[in-house]
Amino acid sequence: MDLRARFVTLAIGTDPKLRRMLTYWAATVTLYALFVTLLAVESAAGMVPYAGVLGLGLYAASGAAAFYLLVRANARLGLRPHLLAALQGLFGITCNMWAYSITGPLRGATLMGLMVVVVFCTFALRPRQTLILALCGLVGMGTTMWWHQLHDPLHYPPQVEAVTFVIMAGCSLTVTFLTGEMNKLRARLKAKREIVEAALATIRVLATTDELTSVSNRRHMNEVLEEEQGPACVALIDIDFFKQINDRHGHAAGDAVLRAVAHRLRADLRPGDVLARWGGEEFLVLLPATSLDDAHAFVESLRAGMAGLAVPGVDAHLRVSFSAGLAARHGREPFSDTINRADKALYRAKAAGRDRVECAA
Ligand code: GH3
Ligand code: MG
Ligand code: MG
Repeated sequence: MDLRARFVTLAIGTDPKLRRMLTYWAATVTLYALFVTLLAVESAAGMVPYAGVLGLGLYAASGAAAFYLLVRANARLGLRPHLLAALQGLFGITCNMWAYSITGPLRGATLMGLMVVVVFCTFALRPRQTLILALCGLVGMGTTMWWHQLHDPLHYPPQVEAVTFVIMAGCSLTVTFLTGEMNKLRARLKAKREIVEAALATIRVLATTDELTSVSNRRHMNEVLEEEQGPACVALIDIDFFKQINDRHGHAAGDAVLRAVAHRLRADLRPGDVLARWGGEEFLVLLPATSLDDAHAFVESLRAGMAGLAVPGVDAHLRVSFSAGLAARHGREPFSDTINRADKALYRAKAAGRDRVECAA
């Protein structure tokens, strides 16, 4: 990692959620900076006392630094996001009170900051919490206005302060209500998206999995075969005398045998091998990058493994076996050709007495 990347990781971490929170933080810091810069300009023009601007600048800067550290270290501190947002909101309100007190005739403009506090907090707070914060803002600003009109009625005429307060309260409560509605809408959309995502995941499973045996279905195997570019062998596996199993032990027992065979085959596969239910009691196994000799030995081991297969809920004396036809892909021929040869080999295995593996030329 180069030095710059290291610095960025140190400053804003790698977690997208943390980065988003720091983006909100950066947006508010930009606003603080803008306010303080404007006040500094006013101060240069002699409209605002310099000491007040300096004090507010220092206060805002130290608050911003403290919140940066809190947000950045929150993975370790474990503060709840709404607590962090509420603290930042309350800090914003105090900055607003201070700014209102020193801005002079332009003080009305600082009230915009209160709206920003409300909107900022709706990202993390519930509507009721946002309302409480907005009310805190109104109490803070109301007290500030009341105090000034009481002590300096010449510069803060009571009527002007009263009208300003009413307008501010109306706007602030309306913004709180609207952002609350937006939040509800967002929550509803999120819930709907989760339902759709869950449904998609289910559809994906249903589209690729055989319901009875939980191995891949034929459609999925065809997709896998289409993707497969290299040399490979395919084994077509067909349970012997399966109709008899159904007839003697019942269809449910037949289903249990299918599940047990699929389960055993899947457990014995090597990484990269793919097993699918190809038809009623037929399975297809794709063995990528495997020579015919190795594939033969492997499918033989699968066949031998059937000897001890126990099928839950079915007569313990039931012996299950399969016959298999095995074929290697010729060059990059379509897999349908390879499977056709495996099918012919399977036919020979059945004709030769079953419970065996035959290889295609
Ligand atoms: P062979 O040794 O020649 O393969 O004989 P077989 O009896 O296994 O073959 P056959 O093709 O005559 O019979 C297959 C039977 O598999 C017929 C069908 O009713 C049954 N079958 C197909 N799908 C299912 C299923 O999902 N569940 C159950 N229980 N039986 C099924
Ligand atoms: Mg069959
Ligand atoms: Mg069969």
